Amino acid sequence: MSTNSNSGMDGSEQLAHVNWSASAAHLFEECPRRFFYRYQQTESTKDYSGYTPSPGVYLGTVVHESLAGQVTRWSRGENIHLQTATDYAKDELERYVEENAETIADRIDDTDEETFDSDSFTRSLVQTARNHIRQFFRVIWPHFENHRYIAHETRQTFDVAEEPVTVQPDLCTRSPEGDFVVTDWKTSAYDRFSNPTIQMQAYALYAYEAYEPELNRIRVQLAHTGSGEFDRMVPTTEDVRQIRDRITNDRAFWTGEGDIESYETNPAVQKCSQCSYLHRCTDGQAVEGEDLEPN
Ligand code: SF4
Repeated sequence: MSTNSNSGMDGSEQLAHVNWSASAAHLFEECPRRFFYRYQQTESTKDYSGYTPSPGVYLGTVVHESLAGQVTRWSRGENIHLQTATDYAKDELERYVEENAETIADRIDDTDEETFDSDSFTRSLVQTARNHIRQFFRVIWPHFENHRYIAHETRQTFDVAEEPVTVQPDLCTRSPEGDFVVTDWKTSAYDRFSNPTIQMQAYALYAYEAYEPELNRIRVQLAHTGSGEFDRMVPTTEDVRQIRDRITNDRAFWTGEGDIESYETNPAVQKCSQCSYLHRCTDGQAVEGEDLEPN
Protein backbone atom coordinates (compact mmCIF):
# COMPACT_ATOMS: atom_id res chain seq x y z
CA MET A 1 0.00 0.00 0.00
CA SER A 2 2.81 2.44 0.77
CA THR A 3 4.81 2.14 -2.44
CA ASN A 4 4.89 5.91 -2.92
CA SER A 5 4.55 5.27 -6.67
CA ASN A 6 2.94 8.62 -7.46
CA SER A 7 5.29 10.88 -5.57
CA GLY A 8 7.67 11.80 -8.36
CA MET A 9 10.64 10.52 -6.37
CA ASP A 10 10.95 7.47 -8.61
CA GLY A 11 10.76 9.52 -11.82
CA SER A 12 7.15 8.71 -12.63
CA GLU A 13 4.30 11.07 -12.14
CA GLN A 14 0.74 11.62 -13.21
CA LEU A 15 0.24 14.97 -14.89
CA ALA A 16 -3.51 14.59 -15.44
CA HIS A 17 -4.12 17.30 -12.83
CA VAL A 18 -2.67 19.98 -15.14
CA ASN A 19 -5.50 21.91 -16.80
CA TRP A 20 -4.71 22.94 -20.34
CA SER A 21 -3.75 26.62 -20.50
CA ALA A 22 -1.75 28.61 -23.02
CA SER A 23 1.09 29.01 -20.51
CA ALA A 24 1.25 25.28 -19.66
CA ALA A 25 1.12 24.43 -23.38
CA HIS A 26 3.89 26.93 -24.10
CA LEU A 27 6.09 25.45 -21.37
CA PHE A 28 5.46 21.94 -22.70
CA GLU A 29 6.33 23.03 -26.24
CA GLU A 30 9.48 24.84 -25.16
CA CYS A 31 10.89 21.95 -23.09
CA PRO A 32 8.77 18.94 -22.07
CA ARG A 33 11.16 18.11 -19.21
CA ARG A 34 10.80 21.58 -17.74
CA PHE A 35 7.02 21.15 -17.92
CA PHE A 36 7.38 17.85 -16.06
CA TYR A 37 9.49 19.41 -13.29
CA ARG A 38 7.16 22.39 -13.00
CA TYR A 39 3.98 20.37 -12.60
CA GLN A 40 5.05 17.20 -10.84
CA GLN A 41 3.32 17.01 -7.47
CA THR A 42 6.06 16.70 -4.92
CA GLU A 43 6.13 18.31 -1.52
CA SER A 44 9.08 20.52 -2.46
CA THR A 45 7.47 21.93 -5.63
CA LYS A 46 4.29 22.81 -3.75
CA ASP A 47 6.19 25.14 -1.44
CA TYR A 48 6.60 28.53 -3.11
CA SER A 49 6.99 30.48 0.14
CA GLY A 50 10.69 31.16 -0.37
CA TYR A 51 10.38 32.16 -4.02
CA THR A 52 11.33 35.70 -5.02
CA PRO A 53 10.23 36.74 -8.52
CA SER A 54 12.81 38.53 -10.68
CA PRO A 55 12.48 42.35 -10.90
CA GLY A 56 11.21 42.10 -14.50
CA VAL A 57 8.54 39.54 -13.60
CA TYR A 58 7.50 41.49 -10.53
CA LEU A 59 7.27 44.73 -12.50
CA GLY A 60 4.88 43.04 -14.95
CA THR A 61 2.76 41.70 -12.08
CA VAL A 62 2.54 45.11 -10.41
CA VAL A 63 1.59 46.91 -13.63
CA HIS A 64 -1.13 44.29 -14.24
CA GLU A 65 -2.47 44.68 -10.69
CA SER A 66 -2.43 48.43 -10.97
CA LEU A 67 -4.38 48.37 -14.25
CA ALA A 68 -6.79 45.76 -12.85
CA GLY A 69 -7.52 48.13 -9.96
CA GLN A 70 -8.43 50.87 -12.41
CA VAL A 71 -10.60 48.53 -14.51
CA THR A 72 -12.44 47.58 -11.30
CA ARG A 73 -13.19 51.28 -10.76
CA TRP A 74 -14.41 51.61 -14.35
CA SER A 75 -16.62 48.51 -13.97
CA ARG A 76 -18.36 50.28 -11.05
CA GLY A 77 -18.93 53.44 -13.07
CA GLU A 78 -16.12 55.36 -11.30
CA ASN A 79 -13.43 57.44 -13.00
CA ILE A 80 -9.99 55.95 -13.47
CA HIS A 81 -6.91 57.80 -12.19
CA LEU A 82 -3.39 57.83 -13.56
CA GLN A 83 -2.04 59.10 -10.23
CA THR A 84 -3.70 56.34 -8.17
CA ALA A 85 -2.40 53.72 -10.60
CA THR A 86 1.19 54.99 -10.51
CA ASP A 87 1.13 55.46 -6.72
CA TYR A 88 0.06 51.85 -6.30
CA ALA A 89 2.92 50.63 -8.51
CA LYS A 90 5.44 52.84 -6.72
CA ASP A 91 4.44 51.57 -3.26
CA GLU A 92 4.53 47.93 -4.34
CA LEU A 93 7.89 48.21 -6.10
CA GLU A 94 9.51 50.06 -3.21
CA ARG A 95 8.33 47.41 -0.79
CA TYR A 96 9.56 44.62 -3.11
CA VAL A 97 13.11 46.05 -3.42
CA GLU A 98 13.30 46.79 0.29
CA GLU A 99 12.27 43.24 1.22
CA ASN A 100 14.44 41.52 -1.40
CA ALA A 101 17.48 43.79 -1.80
CA GLU A 102 19.95 41.02 -1.04
CA THR A 103 18.46 38.49 -3.46
CA ILE A 104 18.18 41.11 -6.22
CA ALA A 105 21.78 42.25 -5.70
CA ASP A 106 22.94 38.62 -5.97
CA ARG A 107 21.04 38.11 -9.20
CA ILE A 108 22.30 41.21 -10.95
CA ASP A 109 25.41 40.52 -12.94
CA ASP A 110 27.63 43.05 -11.27
CA THR A 111 30.62 42.96 -13.60
CA ASP A 112 31.80 46.49 -12.67
CA GLU A 113 32.05 45.35 -9.06
CA GLU A 114 29.95 48.34 -8.06
CA THR A 115 27.81 47.87 -5.01
CA PHE A 116 24.09 47.50 -5.54
CA ASP A 117 22.39 50.87 -5.18
CA SER A 118 18.88 49.98 -4.14
CA ASP A 119 17.59 53.58 -4.32
CA SER A 120 18.55 54.11 -7.92
CA PHE A 121 17.42 50.58 -8.81
CA THR A 122 14.01 51.29 -7.25
CA ARG A 123 13.75 54.64 -9.05
CA SER A 124 14.43 53.01 -12.38
CA LEU A 125 11.85 50.24 -11.75
CA VAL A 126 9.23 52.80 -10.70
CA GLN A 127 9.98 54.93 -13.78
CA THR A 128 9.53 51.92 -16.07
CA ALA A 129 6.21 51.06 -14.40
CA ARG A 130 5.10 54.67 -14.73
CA ASN A 131 5.90 54.66 -18.46
CA HIS A 132 3.78 51.54 -18.99
CA ILE A 133 0.86 52.94 -17.00
CA ARG A 134 1.01 56.31 -18.80
CA GLN A 135 1.03 54.57 -22.16
CA PHE A 136 -2.01 52.60 -21.06
CA PHE A 137 -3.93 55.75 -20.06
CA ARG A 138 -2.94 57.81 -23.09
CA VAL A 139 -2.94 55.36 -25.95
CA ILE A 140 -4.66 52.10 -24.97
CA TRP A 141 -7.56 53.03 -22.72
CA PRO A 142 -9.22 55.49 -25.17
CA HIS A 143 -10.03 52.44 -27.33
CA PHE A 144 -12.32 51.12 -24.56
CA GLU A 145 -14.17 54.19 -23.44
CA ASN A 146 -17.36 53.35 -25.35
CA HIS A 147 -17.21 49.64 -24.60
CA ARG A 148 -19.55 47.86 -22.23
CA TYR A 149 -17.89 46.03 -19.35
CA ILE A 150 -18.34 42.22 -19.21
CA ALA A 151 -15.56 40.81 -16.97
CA HIS A 152 -11.93 41.26 -16.01
CA GLU A 153 -9.09 39.28 -14.42
CA THR A 154 -11.28 36.30 -13.67
CA ARG A 155 -9.89 32.82 -13.94
CA GLN A 156 -12.30 30.73 -16.02
CA THR A 157 -12.31 26.99 -16.48
CA PHE A 158 -14.30 25.24 -19.20
CA ASP A 159 -14.20 21.86 -20.95
CA VAL A 160 -13.12 21.03 -24.47
CA ALA A 161 -13.94 17.43 -25.41
CA GLU A 162 -14.14 16.76 -21.65
CA GLU A 163 -10.66 18.16 -21.06
CA PRO A 164 -10.33 21.04 -18.55
CA VAL A 165 -9.07 24.34 -19.96
CA THR A 166 -8.20 27.46 -17.97
CA VAL A 167 -8.03 31.02 -19.28
CA GLN A 168 -7.62 34.32 -17.47
CA PRO A 169 -8.14 37.24 -19.86
CA ASP A 170 -7.41 40.72 -18.50
CA LEU A 171 -10.59 42.27 -19.88
CA CYS A 172 -13.76 41.22 -21.74
CA THR A 173 -15.99 43.93 -23.22
CA ARG A 174 -18.66 44.55 -25.88
CA SER A 175 -17.71 47.16 -28.43
CA PRO A 176 -20.27 49.78 -29.57
CA GLU A 177 -20.62 47.69 -32.79
CA GLY A 178 -21.66 44.66 -30.70
CA ASP A 179 -18.42 42.68 -31.02
CA PHE A 180 -17.24 40.60 -28.09
CA VAL A 181 -13.68 41.81 -27.35
CA VAL A 182 -11.11 39.87 -25.29
CA THR A 183 -7.99 41.86 -24.33
CA ASP A 184 -4.74 41.01 -22.60
CA TRP A 185 -2.26 43.64 -21.44
CA LYS A 186 1.32 42.71 -22.38
CA THR A 187 4.03 44.40 -20.35
CA SER A 188 6.99 42.38 -21.57
CA ALA A 189 8.97 43.18 -24.67
CA TYR A 190 8.40 40.95 -27.68
CA ASP A 191 9.71 37.48 -26.88
CA ARG A 192 10.86 35.45 -29.84
CA PHE A 193 10.35 32.23 -27.88
CA SER A 194 6.73 32.89 -27.08
CA ASN A 195 3.81 31.93 -29.26
CA PRO A 196 1.02 34.48 -28.79
CA THR A 197 -1.18 32.72 -31.33
CA ILE A 198 -2.15 29.84 -29.05
CA GLN A 199 -3.05 32.26 -26.28
CA MET A 200 -5.20 34.31 -28.65
CA GLN A 201 -6.81 31.18 -30.07
CA ALA A 202 -7.58 29.95 -26.53
CA TYR A 203 -9.26 33.27 -25.69
CA ALA A 204 -11.24 33.08 -28.94
CA LEU A 205 -12.40 29.57 -28.08
CA TYR A 206 -13.44 30.70 -24.60
CA ALA A 207 -15.40 33.65 -25.99
CA TYR A 208 -17.04 31.37 -28.55
CA GLU A 209 -18.00 28.71 -25.98
CA ALA A 210 -19.08 31.08 -23.21
CA TYR A 211 -20.41 34.27 -24.81
CA GLU A 212 -20.62 34.65 -28.56
CA PRO A 213 -21.74 31.91 -30.96
CA GLU A 214 -20.90 34.04 -34.04
CA LEU A 215 -17.17 33.75 -34.55
CA ASN A 216 -16.94 36.82 -36.75
CA ARG A 217 -18.25 38.92 -33.87
CA ILE A 218 -15.27 37.98 -31.68
CA ARG A 219 -12.14 40.15 -31.47
CA VAL A 220 -9.04 39.04 -29.56
CA GLN A 221 -6.25 41.52 -28.92
CA LEU A 222 -2.98 41.89 -27.08
CA ALA A 223 -2.36 45.48 -25.94
CA HIS A 224 1.36 46.21 -25.47
CA THR A 225 1.77 48.68 -22.64
CA GLY A 226 5.40 49.36 -23.61
CA SER A 227 4.66 50.60 -27.13
CA GLY A 228 0.91 51.26 -27.01
CA GLU A 229 0.46 48.90 -29.97
CA PHE A 230 -2.20 46.21 -30.42
CA ASP A 231 -1.94 42.75 -31.99
CA ARG A 232 -5.44 41.95 -33.19
CA MET A 233 -7.10 38.79 -34.39
CA VAL A 234 -10.54 37.89 -35.72
CA PRO A 235 -10.75 34.12 -35.20
CA THR A 236 -11.70 31.75 -37.99
CA THR A 237 -13.16 28.25 -37.89
CA GLU A 238 -9.62 27.06 -38.68
CA ASP A 239 -8.34 28.75 -35.49
CA VAL A 240 -11.02 26.99 -33.47
CA ARG A 241 -10.18 23.65 -35.06
CA GLN A 242 -6.44 24.13 -34.46
CA ILE A 243 -6.78 25.06 -30.80
CA ARG A 244 -9.22 22.24 -30.09
CA ASP A 245 -6.74 19.78 -31.63
CA ARG A 246 -3.90 21.28 -29.66
CA ILE A 247 -5.81 20.97 -26.39
CA THR A 248 -6.86 17.39 -27.10
CA ASN A 249 -3.36 16.31 -28.13
CA ASP A 250 -1.57 18.01 -25.23
CA ARG A 251 -3.99 16.65 -22.67
CA ALA A 252 -3.78 13.15 -24.19
CA PHE A 253 -0.01 13.24 -23.64
CA TRP A 254 -0.20 14.68 -20.11
CA THR A 255 -2.79 12.15 -18.98
CA GLY A 256 -1.21 9.21 -20.84
CA GLU A 257 2.50 9.63 -20.12
CA GLY A 258 3.67 9.62 -16.53
CA ASP A 259 7.31 8.63 -16.94
CA ILE A 260 9.97 11.34 -16.72
CA GLU A 261 11.77 9.85 -19.73
CA SER A 262 8.72 10.53 -21.91
CA TYR A 263 9.16 14.24 -21.21
CA GLU A 264 12.29 14.88 -23.25
CA THR A 265 14.80 17.60 -22.58
CA ASN A 266 15.19 20.32 -25.19
CA PRO A 267 18.37 22.06 -24.14
CA ALA A 268 19.53 25.43 -25.48
CA VAL A 269 22.05 27.73 -23.80
CA GLN A 270 19.81 30.73 -23.29
CA LYS A 271 16.82 28.70 -22.13
CA CYS A 272 18.73 26.42 -19.76
CA SER A 273 20.75 29.21 -18.16
CA GLN A 274 17.46 30.73 -16.95
CA CYS A 275 15.75 27.46 -16.05
CA SER A 276 14.85 26.98 -12.36
CA TYR A 277 15.35 23.22 -12.73
CA LEU A 278 18.90 23.33 -14.10
CA HIS A 279 20.26 21.74 -10.92
CA ARG A 280 18.18 18.62 -11.65
CA CYS A 281 18.87 18.37 -15.37
CA THR A 282 22.17 16.95 -16.66
CA ASP A 283 21.35 17.74 -20.33
CA GLY A 284 20.78 21.36 -19.39
CA GLN A 285 23.98 21.47 -17.35
CA ALA A 286 25.90 20.11 -20.35
CA VAL A 287 24.94 23.07 -22.56
CA GLU A 288 24.65 25.76 -19.89
CA GLY A 289 28.41 26.32 -19.61
CA GLU A 290 28.73 26.95 -23.36
CA ASP A 291 29.12 30.52 -24.54
CA LEU A 292 26.07 32.30 -25.87
CA GLU A 293 26.18 32.69 -29.64
CA PRO A 294 27.17 36.26 -30.44
CA ASN A 295 24.50 37.94 -32.52
S1 SF4 B 1 17.73 22.88 -17.99
FE1 SF4 B 1 17.17 23.12 -20.15
S2 SF4 B 1 16.78 21.05 -20.92
FE2 SF4 B 1 16.76 20.97 -18.67
S3 SF4 B 1 14.63 21.20 -18.09
FE3 SF4 B 1 15.51 23.24 -18.05
S4 SF4 B 1 15.12 24.08 -20.13
FE4 SF4 B 1 14.81 21.85 -20.23
